[in-house]
Amino acid sequence: MGRENFPDRFKHLDFMKMDRRTFLKAVGALGASLFLQTYRSDIVKALEFAETRIVWIHGGECTGCSESLLNGGEPDVLQAFDRLNIRLEYHELLLGQQGIYVDGEMVNTSELNSEILFEEVIEEAGYILVVEGAIANGPKGTGKYIILGGKTYKDIFRKAAENASLIVAVGQCATNGGVNSADSDIKDLMDFRGVAFTMEDGEKGMLQELGIEKPVININGCPPHPDWMLLTLGAVVLGKIKIPDDLPEVLDQWLRPKVFFPPDSVIHDNCPRRGFYDKGEFDTVVSGEKCLWKLGCKAPYTHADCAIRRWNGYHSLCPQSGSPCISCVSPGFPDSSRPFFQEIEDVGIAGTNIDTVAKVAIGASLLAVGAHAIRRVAVKEAPEGKEPEEAPGKEPEEVPGKKAGKDEGEDQ
Ligand code: SF4
Ligand code: SF4
Repeated sequence: MGRENFPDRFKHLDFMKMDRRTFLKAVGALGASLFLQTYRSDIVKALEFAETRIVWIHGGECTGCSESLLNGGEPDVLQAFDRLNIRLEYHELLLGQQGIYVDGEMVNTSELNSEILFEEVIEEAGYILVVEGAIANGPKGTGKYIILGGKTYKDIFRKAAENASLIVAVGQCATNGGVNSADSDIKDLMDFRGVAFTMEDGEKGMLQELGIEKPVININGCPPHPDWMLLTLGAVVLGKIKIPDDLPEVLDQWLRPKVFFPPDSVIHDNCPRRGFYDKGEFDTVVSGEKCLWKLGCKAPYTHADCAIRRWNGYHSLCPQSGSPCISCVSPGFPDSSRPFFQEIEDVGIAGTNIDTVAKVAIGASLLAVGAHAIRRVAVKEAPEGKEPEEAPGKEPEEVPGKKAGKDEGEDQ
């Protein structure tokens, strides 16, 4: 696949000579496949001696984020990691036959026993820690509601986080607690936490609970798009995002990369059904072909590039396939998106009000400006989280996870 398929403004650019701003625009415009295929030789050259180690752990979740990553297609995750010279040292879902017992026999080598492997990898330190799933703090701060191999997941997370250079939280459960932290009779008892936030509370992340300061990138979504995960890791590995110095500029207030979660646009802007909205033609049952606003579509105030990037091999997105957007990337999801399939009341539909909602969200002033008018809007991407400069972690490190003494390539 050649550069002739690129958007015009990127056709004549040399990727390895791009500055960070241009690079991030490029990864925003390109899919992982096009990006990795086109620049394969450049990437290999730049990373000839560099290797990045990744440790990927799982807490309270459905493994949907890893499955989304595996659905990345062309290139698949193993090809992408190979091209980026990433060594996936530990990943519970993808590990080969592992356990304390294998084929009925007790094993005590790191090749066969994942607990031993985990301890060895963690001891080496300096890796990128990818966290999938929420972390149980309950009951009463003990973390005993998730036990893995006789240890609490809270303790496993603590050890892995302490020795990491960077933490990348993937999926809604890891970023903000997700379904684990949703309102329920057992919510307080279970006390599930996200890495740096619990729902929209920036003081209740598990890192804050443990008193650990580390740089964090959140890749929201239930699940996240494979490109969001692969391209973020790619940008970090290639040194295009310097950790932690560049984070305040490249992340939003929820620690999400702005390139994939643009603060100045919403999914509704580029929805293929927008023409029906403009004409005031709305579906009242799912799987129709018209605008889904009356079915509770929340894309008008959801900041993500789903409608441009699209899913399932860059072919479709939720509203396109007949289901309203439920704003699965919003920090307060799922509570902030409920009820899923009801028209948002008190906002109005045809004409102008839907745009007003989007503008309010874009201006990040939903609460201050429009709360009285849109008090029944469920999703609020309001700036109640911490400012980027308060992002955890201050330790300077050029490329997290990269082994000392490795060549990083040029960053001009
Ligand atoms: S309300 Fe939803 S379905 Fe309708 S045009 Fe906007 S994004 Fe598309
Ligand atoms: S369109 Fe909405 S519900 Fe679908 S993946 Fe994007 S943010 Fe999530």
